[in-house]
Amino acid sequence: MRFRILAAALAGIAFTGAPAAAAAEPDFSPDRIRAHVEFLADDALEGRNAGERGYDIAAKYVASRFQALGLKPAAAGSWYQQVPFLEYSLGEAPRASALGGRAFANRKDVLLTGSPSEPQQSLEAAVVFAGYGLDAPAAGFNDYRGLDVRGKVVAVLTGFPKGTPSEMGAHLNAEKARMAQKRGAIGLVTIPTVADEKRRPWARRVEMAGQSNLTWVAPDGQPFMSAPDIRVGGTLGQAAAEALFAGARRPLSAVLAEADREGGKPKGFALKPSLKVERQSVNRRLTSPNVLAVLPGSDPALANEYVLLMAHLDHVGVDPKLSGDKIHNGAMDNAAGTATMLEVARAMAESPNRPRRSILFAAVTAEEDGLLGAEYLAKHPVVDGKVVGVVNLDMPVLLYDFSDVIAFGSNHSTLGAIVGRAAAGMNVKLSADPLPEEGLFTRSDHYKFVREGVPAVFLMTGFAGEGEKQFRDFLATHYHKPSDEPGLPFNWNAGAKFARLNYLIANEIANGDQAPLWYRDSFFGQTVAPAAAKAERSAR
Ligand SMILES: [Zn+2]
Repeated sequence: MRFRILAAALAGIAFTGAPAAAAAEPDFSPDRIRAHVEFLADDALEGRNAGERGYDIAAKYVASRFQALGLKPAAAGSWYQQVPFLEYSLGEAPRASALGGRAFANRKDVLLTGSPSEPQQSLEAAVVFAGYGLDAPAAGFNDYRGLDVRGKVVAVLTGFPKGTPSEMGAHLNAEKARMAQKRGAIGLVTIPTVADEKRRPWARRVEMAGQSNLTWVAPDGQPFMSAPDIRVGGTLGQAAAEALFAGARRPLSAVLAEADREGGKPKGFALKPSLKVERQSVNRRLTSPNVLAVLPGSDPALANEYVLLMAHLDHVGVDPKLSGDKIHNGAMDNAAGTATMLEVARAMAESPNRPRRSILFAAVTAEEDGLLGAEYLAKHPVVDGKVVGVVNLDMPVLLYDFSDVIAFGSNHSTLGAIVGRAAAGMNVKLSADPLPEEGLFTRSDHYKFVREGVPAVFLMTGFAGEGEKQFRDFLATHYHKPSDEPGLPFNWNAGAKFARLNYLIANEIANGDQAPLWYRDSFFGQTVAPAAAKAERSAR
C-alpha cells in the first residue's frame, strides 16, 4: 500500500497522464442525440427554412447549447454571422421559353428560375450542343473542342461520363457554368441523361424545384453569381429537348444512347432552333445567420489554426401545396448532423485534454438553397487564423447500426490516413462510393471549403449489411419529404457511434503536428490549391 502511494507520487507525470488519457475517450450519448433531433425536427420549427422563424428558433437553440458548453462566440463577439441574401423568383406570365418558335411552359416542359441580376429579360440566342459541357483537357474532357459558343447558349447533358471517378466528376459537373462562361457563352441549359431521368424522373424534378432561389449578397451589395456572364439557365424536359434537336446533325436519341454507355462522350455541334426567353424576376432581401462557436486550442503554437466541424441547420420549410402533413421536418436532413455536431462539441468542451488546434463549430444556413451559408463563411472568415481542415456532417442515415462509411474527400489528402485510423479503431470499414451518379461530394457544405483550397472529409453511413436497403429506402421514400421526421425508426445508438467516429477524426486533425495536406497526385489538390505544399501519397 505504502509502496504504491510512493510509486504514484514518484511517477507523478505518468499518473496524471493516465486518467486524462482515459478521459480522452468520452462517452457519446444516444439520448442526447435524440433530444437534439426531436427538438430541431419538431413541427414547432416549421422545417427550419432559411430566413423564417423556425430556422431562427433552431439557431437560438444551437447558440444556447454552445453557450452552455462554455464555448466562445466566434463572429465578432456574437454567435451569429448574419448572411444577407437576395431571393429571386419568376414573376407572373409569360413563364414560357421558345425553341424554334414553339413555346414551352415553365414547371411543365422546362424548369427556369428567376434572374438575380436582370429583373426584365428578353433574350434570343443560337444554341450549341456541347456534350457533357466539360472543359478540363488535362483530365481528358474536351467537350468544347472545335465549337464556337461565343454569345450563344450551350445545351449540355446533366452529370458526367459513366466511369469517371465520382468525386472528380461531381466537381467538374459543378463547374459547368464557369466553363461555359470562360468560352464566352451567355446561357447554359441542361438535358437530363437516361440515367438521370431514371434516378430523378422529370415529375420529381419539377416537384423538388423551389418557387424561388437564393444567393448571398457581398458586402458591396452585389448578389453573388459564380458565373455572372451566364445570363440564362434551365433544364429541359423531353419534349423541349426534342424540339431543340429538330433537324439536328444527330438525333437526340442517338446522343443519349451514346452518353448512356460506359465512357460515352457525345461530341458537340450547333443546333438549328434558337432559344428565346422572356421573363420577369421578383427580388426580395432577407438575412439568416450561420451559428458559430470556437473552442480555443490548447497549444499556443497551433491555436491560430482551426479545424471546422460543420453541419447545416436549415431544411426546406413548409410546402403549402401539399395536402396533409406540409412540414418538411428534416430529421435526418439535417437535424441528425447538427445533433452529431453538438454531441462532438460537448465531448471536446468537457474533455480535460483540449485539442491543440482551435475548433470552429458551425451550424450553417441555406445549404438547401445551394450551400450558401457555407460559401459565405468560406469567403468571409470570422476567425483570426486559418481553417486547415473540415469535417462536415450532413444527413447521416441513422436508421441502422452502420458497419461501414464512405469518406468523401479522404482519398485526396492526408485526412485519409486519419479517417482510416479512426474507423479501424471502431471496427468500421471504409467503402467506395456506392452512389457515384448522385455526385454527393459536391452536394454538401464542405465542397465550398474544398473550392477555397481546404482539405475536407464528409462521412456517409455505408451500405454494408442492411445499410443499402435502409439508405435506398430512405432516399426513395423520405428524402426531402414531410416524412423525414422524428417518428422514423431511428437507431439512436448509431447516432452516438457516428458522433464518436467524427469526434476521433476531428480530434486527431486538431492534435496532429502537421496540418492536413493535399496529396501531390490529387486532382483536387492540383485544381483548388495548386500553390499549396503537398504530401506524397506513400508518406503515411
Ligand atoms: Zn437536403
